[in-house]
This record gives sequence, C-alpha cells and structure tokens, in this order.
Amino acid sequence: MKKIAVFPGSFDPITLGHVAVMNRAVPLFDQLIIAIGDNADKKHMFPLEQRKKWILDIFKDQPKITVAIYNGLTVDFCKKTNAQFILRGLRTSADFEFERSIAQVNRRLAPEVDTLFILTEAKYTPVSSSIVRDIIRNGGDISEFVPEEVRF
Ligand code: ADP
Repeated sequence: MKKIAVFPGSFDPITLGHVAVMNRAVPLFDQLIIAIGDNADKKHMFPLEQRKKWILDIFKDQPKITVAIYNGLTVDFCKKTNAQFILRGLRTSADFEFERSIAQVNRRLAPEVDTLFILTEAKYTPVSSSIVRDIIRNGGDISEFVPEEVRF
C-alpha cells in the first residue's frame, strides 16, 4: 500500500520552516499532499491560488509532493485522498499543546489516520507565517524567512 501523508496548513505564506519539514518528510512517504485549508473564518493575507502556486514552484522538481486546496475536516480530506497520515511541524511546547488536542480529536474521528510530528530545526523555531505577515505589513525584509519563490 502506498504511504500517503497530508500536510495541512494555511501556508500564508509558506516559510523556510515549513519547507524544511516537508523536505524531511519526503523520504518517509510515497506521496506528500500539501493541503491548504480554505478556512473562511481565518483572515488571510494571500489568496489561496497564490499560496498554492508558490508551493508548486518550490517543489516543481519533487514528484512526490502535490498541492491541494481543501475545505471541511482534515480527516475527511485524508479519507478522500486515501492518506493514512497527517503531518504537522512542532516548534515549541505551545505548538505541542495545540497540536496534541487536534491530533487526539482527529484520532477519535478517524482512528485509521495517524498524526506524525516533525520537530523543527532550531534555526527555524522562531519563524512563523504570522511573523512574516507582520514584517510585510511593516515594510521589512522577509528574504531570510521564506523561499525565494515567495515574491509578490
Ligand atoms: P495552521 O494555520 O494550520 O497553523 P500554518 O501554515 O501556520 O497552518 O502551519 C502549518 C504547520 O506547519 C503546523 O503544524 C505548524 O506547527 C508548522 N510550522 C509552522 N511554522 C513552522 C516552522 N518554522 N518550523 C516547523 N514547523 C512549522
């Protein structure tokens, strides 16, 4: 059976922290679906299609990675795509507490889907999409936090 993982997130925008987790996950799975959540309740800076295009550009030479936009429950998206795993990145203990409850609830909803975590590289611990958005809003330089494909 093909090992398929879904990496759900907002990726608004994708950062070098996300990319590092994705690159480390590639050897573990046959297919890695980067799934951008279409969450109407969440305020975003960049349109979904723009976020998707950046990720496609970054991984154009990585056939194991595909990119999708989804709405609804992540576990339902996993069932639809036959993914057995949800992948998430962990930076801090605050991330852990947040991720723990989501993963435990997801397991109740869909016991056949397991959540796996990759601990971020130390240098990317302080990097988040929300900090990148703050820097953009205030006219700062984001080049050391995002891949070069992220241009606007
Ligand atoms: P969400 O809105 O679901 O939190 P994000 O795009 O902010 O979406 O994050 C998606 C996933 O990437 C989460 O598991 C998050 O913890 C992880 N992540 C975010 N930034 C980093 C980073 N710098 N290093 C490792 N993982 C990260």
